Order: sequence, then structure tokens, then C-alpha cells
Amino acid sequence: MMRPIIEMKNVVKSFGVFKALHGVDLRVGEGEIVVVIGPSGSGKSTLIRCINQLEEHNDGEIIVDGAEVGRGRKSTVLTEVGMVFQSFNLFPHMTVLRNVALGPVRVRGLSWGAAEERAQRLLTRVGLEDHVEKYPAQLSGGQQQRVGIARALAMEPKVLLFDEPTSALDPEMVGEVLDVMQQLAKTGVTMVVVTHEMGFARKVADRVVFMDGGRIVEEGPPDEIFNSPRDPRLRSFLQAV
Ligand code: ADP
Ligand code: MG
Repeated sequence: MMRPIIEMKNVVKSFGVFKALHGVDLRVGEGEIVVVIGPSGSGKSTLIRCINQLEEHNDGEIIVDGAEVGRGRKSTVLTEVGMVFQSFNLFPHMTVLRNVALGPVRVRGLSWGAAEERAQRLLTRVGLEDHVEKYPAQLSGGQQQRVGIARALAMEPKVLLFDEPTSALDPEMVGEVLDVMQQLAKTGVTMVVVTHEMGFARKVADRVVFMDGGRIVEEGPPDEIFNSPRDPRLRSFLQAV
């Protein structure tokens, strides 16, 4: 069995009287690529946000790389979790290179020289070596999201979480971001990806998790999920996408 990087046990998250997660169990092993699918409002973002403690869960356990997080714990483990958002959230007044180097300087204590060297290498990996001195506004949305991925990687996280990384992009830019993610998936990085890109899920996922109504309703390898879905909610979801 792979070493678990994320373990969620019976995780409950409520907003007031509304339960967004009804006791979720999820285990993600080292190097595993898990794709989370499901209708809007099913709790996908809440799941991701509980893992990186943007939301605090109300019950259950979340263990990241062996350490329990949240519910009052001041954890250092969160610097081990990289996050790629739908909106790229780059600093507009900083060059692309600085945007990527900033985290390693601030959080990891690298010198600017060492951090920029790392940033340069990662920006080359996402195909942006000719754009390092530009500012975010000079880049396309697809390029900005590739900066977002390089920025997350620069922290050398144990796991990368993606929440609809291509949903804000013009259709012609979706492919370039998915290509970078697919390349990344081959390098042994652990990834949890919320996406509506079913082609990506089929091709890249080791496991697909289907959520509905704040619960994991079905999970399995992509060929099972897409070719022989069991739960009627999954069947109707797949017919609609
Ligand atoms: P998804 O990402 O699958 O579309 P979300 O996790 O964003 O779903 O939301 C799940 C449910 O929780 C939705 O009904 C949503 O309205 C609700 N919800 C999410 N965040 C909040 C919040 N901060 N306050 C109140 N309700 C929320
Ligand atoms: Mg969402």
C-alpha cells in the first residue's frame, strides 16, 4: 500500500445549519492522481478547502503527511500543501519570476538568488522560459495559470490541490494547462484535482471520486467510473456533462 499523504476520516463541514460535507472518507497515497468530479454545489471545493485549512472542519480527522491538521491545531504542515485556484491570484506588481520565487524566500528561507534559480527552472518546465521578466497582465490566462502551477511547485509541496484550474480560461487555453498538469502527473507528484474536464480525468487519474450532496458517492479507476458507473446519480451526472 502506498504511503498515505492525505487521510480524511468521517470529515464533517457545516455552514450554519447546512452540511456541506456529511462525513467524508478519502485517502490519497503518495504519487497518486485523484480527480474529483460532481455537480455544482456537491462539496468539491469545500473538500479541498478543508484539506488546506481555508475552511475548518467541524468533525472527523484530516491527516496530511502523518500530522493531523485543523480543529484548533496550529500546524506547520500546511506549507506542504500546494494550491492552484481557478483565479490565479498572482501579484500584479511583481514579475513572473518574482511571483514564483516569493514563497521559497518567505516561507522556506531561501535567498533570492537560490529562489530565482528554482523559479527559472520551474518556469522552463511549464514552458514560460521566455516570459520570466514579464508582469502577469502581459500574459494570457493560460500562461498565468502555468505561472500559478510553477508557484505552487516552487514550495516543493507533498501534495498539489487543484480547484477547477481551467474553469476561468478561454477554451483555447484549457489544453495548454491540462498538458502541463498531465506532464506533472508523470513525475510522481501527488495531486488532487477538481475538474469538469472528463477527458483529463479519463487519461490522467489513477482514481476518480464522484461527489454528490456533500458525500463521496462512488470512486474507482477511470474506466470503471466512466464505462460502468453504478450509482444512478453518477450515471445522470455523466450523461449531462
Ligand atoms: P462545489 O465546489 O462542488 O461546487 P462547494 O464545496 O463550493 O461545491 O459548496 C458546497 C455547498 O456548500 C454548496 O451548497 C454551497 O452553497 C455551500 N457553501 C460553500 N461555501 C459556503 C460558505 N462559505 N457559506 C455557506 N455555504 C457555503
Ligand atoms: Mg467548487
